[in-house]
Amino acid sequence: MAALQQTFDEVLRRNPGEPEFHQAVREVFDSLQVIQDRHPEYSDAGIITRLCEPERQIIFRVPWVDDQGTVQVNRGFRVEYNSALGPYKGGLRFHPSVNLGIVKFLGFEQIFKNSLTGLPIGGGKGGSDFDPHGKSDDEVMRFCQSFMTELYRHLGEYTDVPAGDIGVGAREIGFLFGQYKRLTNRYEAGVLTGKGLDWGGSLVRKEATGYGAAIFADEMLKARGAGLEGKKASVSGSGNVAIYAIEKVHQLGGTAITASDSSGYVVDENGIDLELLRQIKEVERGRIHEYAERRGEGARFVEGGSVWDVPVEIALPCATQNELDEDAATTLVKNGVLAVSEGANMPSTHEAVQVFREADIAFGPGKAANAGGVATSALEMQQNASRDTWTFEYTEERLTQIMRGIHTTCLETAEEFGRPGDYVLGANVAGFRKVADAMMAFGVI
Ligand code: NDP
Repeated sequence: MAALQQTFDEVLRRNPGEPEFHQAVREVFDSLQVIQDRHPEYSDAGIITRLCEPERQIIFRVPWVDDQGTVQVNRGFRVEYNSALGPYKGGLRFHPSVNLGIVKFLGFEQIFKNSLTGLPIGGGKGGSDFDPHGKSDDEVMRFCQSFMTELYRHLGEYTDVPAGDIGVGAREIGFLFGQYKRLTNRYEAGVLTGKGLDWGGSLVRKEATGYGAAIFADEMLKARGAGLEGKKASVSGSGNVAIYAIEKVHQLGGTAITASDSSGYVVDENGIDLELLRQIKEVERGRIHEYAERRGEGARFVEGGSVWDVPVEIALPCATQNELDEDAATTLVKNGVLAVSEGANMPSTHEAVQVFREADIAFGPGKAANAGGVATSALEMQQNASRDTWTFEYTEERLTQIMRGIHTTCLETAEEFGRPGDYVLGANVAGFRKVADAMMAFGVI
């Protein structure tokens, strides 16, 4: 432990004021002692120390003009974290809370997640403190064009391939891709994923992260007896991940009874009406309270408060980091939760994860449970490279197999290292091992 602790102390010293990044590194380090003991050659080669330092970090000014003619300035980031397994791959987040530490935590997680998919993709992440809420389409377009005017020189289908994340959906990817195409004079479809279906996008990409998180919950439950069927689930968020997690829960025979946004949450004991939710959130870009108002009886809106107070058997946190804390985890356990599958990145705090592990709840960490999104992005890259488009059924089948594969890998690795059923350890060790072996092969670079 001494060597790992020393490396962690060094991470704290070299990266001050980045608590989310520290949290993500600590969570991985907690799992690595077992593999360090068996394979001292990794630390001899400085693998862990090198993994903690991004290969490249880009920070840039993003000036744009709003609808009133006023010049606005945001900050853009891209952290190209690790390319041992393939081109840097990871989403862009547009949210006022974005800073370098947030992007580094997300990029660090992405390395292991992408490794777990078994596909040839490295880890990266990016974004800006730009807030798309309340902006006109023209403002979002001008911002995206300015953002890409700097970022394009760092991207390429063999170099770095961004996708969406919080605040970045099909609209933003369209503006970004259009500007990349104009600047480079190349129709390089594989440079961005999450594209529209008419111009190089993949079926199932939009649904993939949410679907994958629900499939992972189903697999965890099946490994302990019976799957999702007939069970109640709570879902947080009402964005891309949450909406399609709800859809897959319903398809698997469960009932998702909640959704939320930063203003509060709704409970609908009859099961969330997906069409209504999509109309409000995807089409009208409205707020979650409108769901309860339009749905009528059986649905209620709770302003503020914690969605995790609602008694359920399955919890799918699909909004943002650290949204589920120790108190919320304790409440979920008290109310009889059986499985927690993280659709968002690091939504459970360190303390919450300890509560779930101590109570022997099936807990799927984000880097395993939400890997379906990036896996389907890699499938989009495959289709772009072969100038082909796959059917929904075929792509969904590939996604399902990948999620089942990740589940099995986590379980088998946890077993191999003497911690049966520990998905956190399984995901961290399996994700790490593949990246470490590739880095060993390349020498010290
Ligand atoms: P969206 O922007 O589509 O939706 C985010 C949702 O979470 C919104 O409902 C938003 O509400 C809510 N939310 C965001 N911040 C907060 C906050 N501080 N407090 C409460 N609610 C909040 O993003 P995605 O669905 O794409 O992403 C959700 C999570 O999933 C993120 O952690 C992301 O990193 C992760 N993820 C996404 C992938 C993808 O493919 N999109 C892939 C893997 C992980 P409001 O509108 O009020 O802000």
